[in-house]
Amino acid sequence: MTFPWHKKASEKLDKMIEQNHLPHALLITGVDKIGKFDFTQALIKKLLCPNSSCDHCELCKALDNDDPKSELGHSVLIRRSHYPNLIYCRTELNDAGSMSKDIRVDQIRAFCESLGKTAETLQIGVVFYADQMNNNAANSLLKTLEEPRQNTLIILLAHNTDRLPMTILSRCQTIHINPSYDESTAKWVASQINDDTRSDFDPMQLLESAYGVPQRAIDDLKGDYYFKYQSWQNLLLEIALSPTKITDAEIFSDNELDVLKCLQHLINEGIKIKILNHDGANLELNKVVEKASFNHLYKLLDDTNQAISLSQTTVNMKLLLDNILVVWSHITNLKKYPAVTNFQEH
Ligand SMILES: [Zn+2]
Repeated sequence: MTFPWHKKASEKLDKMIEQNHLPHALLITGVDKIGKFDFTQALIKKLLCPNSSCDHCELCKALDNDDPKSELGHSVLIRRSHYPNLIYCRTELNDAGSMSKDIRVDQIRAFCESLGKTAETLQIGVVFYADQMNNNAANSLLKTLEEPRQNTLIILLAHNTDRLPMTILSRCQTIHINPSYDESTAKWVASQINDDTRSDFDPMQLLESAYGVPQRAIDDLKGDYYFKYQSWQNLLLEIALSPTKITDAEIFSDNELDVLKCLQHLINEGIKIKILNHDGANLELNKVVEKASFNHLYKLLDDTNQAISLSQTTVNMKLLLDNILVVWSHITNLKKYPAVTNFQEH
């Protein structure tokens, strides 16, 4: 399945295939739910189907039904999909019956050994997710990447490349799948939703609330996250226009990080509106932007970004959000930008 927001990444790959420049190792990155696995399956089809992803042959059909997340009892999946040289490696069930967090070195060894045989036709090994490999596993894979074999393509999938060693990154060609806010993606989102049950949404807004990740937009709608997001956004705008509304901020409780991201999005949009010097679709946001200064918006965006990055630490998110909100509530009539506290303490 090729999704509209995969187009750019697909084109980049197609060019490599056409020019016969496909590397020995590919790293496919992108945020959670952006469709890295579907993207990989489409690529495998392109490479292995004798009729260039016809969708009808035995191989294409088998790939469509392929679910490497099944048979979790096996540490490495080999000979699936009517294609003997397709190998998957991923975390497996541990003895306690839950998913282990790491891909271990013995799994990677088994994976590389299976790939190690000489291949007359293309063999493909897929590791997902490569950022789950522990150090030993990564070192073991590196050895295989350092000695590329004929007719072998290794595909690594990863959410977060920060967790991959530079040595591995430098041996892979990276294809990144970006979030998307374009028309064709919004159309896809609309097509996935049953109109009878949900008529009160705008696909583009929905996509924005999910940070440009279409599958997340669909899931959010099912879980009512979208409606929560809308209520946060509305209250944030109210607070900027009438600071006393800050007393309603308790609806942000336990969602501090998501509210900060919502604010980040609003400020980003606001800055865009100001740069273009053209009203946006959100009337309240236009009002805020009209009265706020560029300088203060940029400073608050910096502070908000910093607050979001601090969410990984033990910082008190509630206090942090409160401090940011105090500044936001005065953004339309701020004389001097105050120092946002709580950043230095950790
Ligand atoms: Zn086919």
